[in-house]
Amino acid sequence: MKIGFIGLGIMGSRMAANLLKGGHNLTVYNRTKSKANELLKNGAKWADNPVSLVKEVDVLITMLEKPDVVNLVALGEGGFLNAMKPNSIWIDVSTVNPSFSKKLSETATAKNVRFLDAPVSGSKVPAEKGELIFLVGGNENDLKEVQPLLDLMGSKTLHIGQHGMGSAMKIMINQMLGQAMLAFSESLSLGIAMGIDKTKAMDVLLNSAVSAPILTAFRSRIEEENYEPNFPLKHLQKDLQLFTDTAFEYQKATPLTNTAKEVYAIAKQQEMADLDFSAVFQLLNK
Ligand code: NAP
Repeated sequence: MKIGFIGLGIMGSRMAANLLKGGHNLTVYNRTKSKANELLKNGAKWADNPVSLVKEVDVLITMLEKPDVVNLVALGEGGFLNAMKPNSIWIDVSTVNPSFSKKLSETATAKNVRFLDAPVSGSKVPAEKGELIFLVGGNENDLKEVQPLLDLMGSKTLHIGQHGMGSAMKIMINQMLGQAMLAFSESLSLGIAMGIDKTKAMDVLLNSAVSAPILTAFRSRIEEENYEPNFPLKHLQKDLQLFTDTAFEYQKATPLTNTAKEVYAIAKQQEMADLDFSAVFQLLNK
């Protein structure tokens, strides 16, 4: 089975590396070619553009920044979808909005391409270790066919439902992630202002029942003020935007997410876009 991978950023480069380690025949493409160097050294083949890549492969995986980018690379000028082999499978693991995934599945199906939305939970380190969690929307039989590939990149696959449901679950998770980080940052920042020792405040907050378990993993970043990105802040802000856009489609009010989204937007404007999203603590602690 020939596999293609488009999008070799923080996540994609590591996921593709695990497919290679699994012994697969892998062809890759990325807008910035230098990010493929390590993979090419380890045996991956390079395609000069997405169209020439998909002509070769039975399974395509895309890991791109956001819906506009997936749309551009798949359906824009020089887009790959028209060139995919009949009955091949396209797994989009990018974080996008559910209605966009559903639309992609309809467009792909009309072209006799099988589609799965399979965004991932887990960041740079789980991607490197092959310990991501896949949240999948689409046909169960298609998923079964590609499960061995997902097992090389992840430790768990959750079939959530039909097309779009993987993306739906993913934006729900990131909505809670974004809010948890903000709530923690706001509380810690006031604690410091009131004169509580930062280490003590962190000890108590992170060991209390009200703390989200994920926050413990960010403790050292905030202590050491190291915001080298595992999950860039601009992507988390994008995910909150996708959540509120989706809520609008369903006529649901999302007052907390709208506020959170704008706090991250302010951080983005203050040159934190490419830092880890936990850098939002800096904004609130100024
Ligand atoms: P990243 O490092 O910023 O990578 C983004 C990818 O999109 C790169 O391959 C980039 O190409 C490509 N891209 C962006 N704009 C493009 C354009 N106009 N045309 C063609 N390619 C373009 O991001 P990442 O952290 O790997 O995230 C990728 C996706 O996974 C996002 O949807 C993100 O929300 C999601 N995600 C991230 C994490 C995480 O912890 N990082 C976890 C779960 C899900 P270049 O290399 O040329 O810029």
